[in-house]
Amino acid sequence: MAPRDERPRGTVRPVSGRTPAAAARARAKVAAERAEHGVAEVSPAERTSSSAGRARRSAATRDAITEPAVDNRSIGRVLGILKAAAPSWNAPVVTLINTHERDPFRTLTSCILSLRTKDEVTAVASRRMFAIAGTPERMAAVDEGELARAIYPVGFYRTKAKQLIGITQQILARFGGKVPDDIDALLTLPGVGRKTANLVVGQAFAKPAICVDTHVHRITNRWGYVHTRTPEQTELALRAQLPAKHWLEINDLLVAFGQTLCHPTSPKCSLCPVARYCPRIGVVRSR
Ligand code: SF4
Repeated sequence: MAPRDERPRGTVRPVSGRTPAAAARARAKVAAERAEHGVAEVSPAERTSSSAGRARRSAATRDAITEPAVDNRSIGRVLGILKAAAPSWNAPVVTLINTHERDPFRTLTSCILSLRTKDEVTAVASRRMFAIAGTPERMAAVDEGELARAIYPVGFYRTKAKQLIGITQQILARFGGKVPDDIDALLTLPGVGRKTANLVVGQAFAKPAICVDTHVHRITNRWGYVHTRTPEQTELALRAQLPAKHWLEINDLLVAFGQTLCHPTSPKCSLCPVARYCPRIGVVRSR
């Protein structure tokens, strides 16, 4: 009879036809995707029983968990607890601008500035932008270099200056100078993605929308409420399962919560008001 395995001792048996090198490359790719969003996606079996799942919970906080995951029986309670705590946290800057300005054009343009930019920088840059280009007519006429200097140092300020002028020209030419209140129409504007479109529709027009940024994506995955790889997938999952009464509030709450306690790396779980509901999926290190 032929030997069952003629490979030298210590050789790894390929799984599903993959070589060990290909499997390692695949694992590294998945790990890089998870790290980008602060999320380690695991299967339900891993979360509940495997040693890998258990290792993801910090020893200091594991014993405090009393619920398996956040679901539609508990999501209202969890968001209610965060809502009660939120007044002591800083609100997201675009929310503050929307509340103060009550102008969809300013909500849209400040949201563009906020992408990949800290809130403190966005707040100051938005004020300078509104001073020289606070209406569609003034934005369409402003010099691109002057606008870029006004919004510096927001991320990609030169690209954003060009983009803001292009968006405004389209709003004037196609929408009569009014920011559209419809997600699909907003998505036709150059450089406007789902996050911005949902934020504008939800905040400026108070119409049903779920704005999913990196905080909403990361935290709802840590809770086990969704199991997704990208913010776009999270938006679709939330649209399918999150009760409509929570759609508009979830972004504000989780952005402030993510900036204050549930940080991408080393969240402050020991201070977290919803710790008893959270299985901390993907959390490797916490405080
Ligand atoms: S801070 Fe910790 S316990 Fe609280 S939601 Fe985030 S990961 Fe869960």
